[in-house]
Amino acid sequence: MAAATPQPSSHLPAAALERLAQNRLLVTLSPAEQELLLPGADVVELEAGTLLVDSGDDVVSTYFPLLGMMATLVLVMADGSVAEATTIGREGAIGGVVSAGHKPAFARAIVQLPGSCLRIDTARLEAAKAKSPRLHDLFARYADALLAQVLQSVVCNALHPLDQRCCRWLLSAMDRAGSDELEITQELLAQMLGVQRTTMTRTLRDLGQRGLIRQARGRIIIHSHEGLEAAACDCHASVHRHFRRILPEVAPRR
Ligand SMILES: [Zn+2]
Repeated sequence: MAAATPQPSSHLPAAALERLAQNRLLVTLSPAEQELLLPGADVVELEAGTLLVDSGDDVVSTYFPLLGMMATLVLVMADGSVAEATTIGREGAIGGVVSAGHKPAFARAIVQLPGSCLRIDTARLEAAKAKSPRLHDLFARYADALLAQVLQSVVCNALHPLDQRCCRWLLSAMDRAGSDELEITQELLAQMLGVQRTTMTRTLRDLGQRGLIRQARGRIIIHSHEGLEAAACDCHASVHRHFRRILPEVAPRR
């Protein structure tokens, strides 16, 4: 399916229209689909650590990350520990996509890389999908791609060593940030990858000695994208391949 050229309709908030092209699902909308989906939408600036939806909450808003913003879906254990299930950025949406309508969320969604989101009422999204077969198809295919990403993470966490998983995570974050410089602390990265901080420190130091990254205060700077791809497991590339097959108009570009 060919990507639609975004042609703004005249009845939508200016702030929403300006930012539309920064999300790869939204950029495919036709003017008629924009009319269905975007009235009432607003652009929200989000800091790292912002809670978008908690486990058990009704999914009343759906967030479409714009360039640079990335959220993680994390699961909270009974003892309060958390681990990351997957990440979502400008290729996708958070909330109300897989769990349709006002059903409770299973995972907690937290902003990991700060930035902007287009926020849309989930009820409006559901109504738009009911009226537009193409929108319904688009979000069904996105749900499939997101599920594939989660499944790949399950296998990755079970089978692949930490250094490869870390490289995979950094590549995913780069895709969303559109930058070689990531605002992420060792502590947060350790939490997302489910390891001790000291273990994370050793792994990042090793990646630095291999010339792949450099660490600064609260940031990780990627030196070699190609090197990081070579050092990562195949999980990142595998998810990309599925995205390209399922959502060719949305698949992240390099
Ligand atoms: Zn892997």
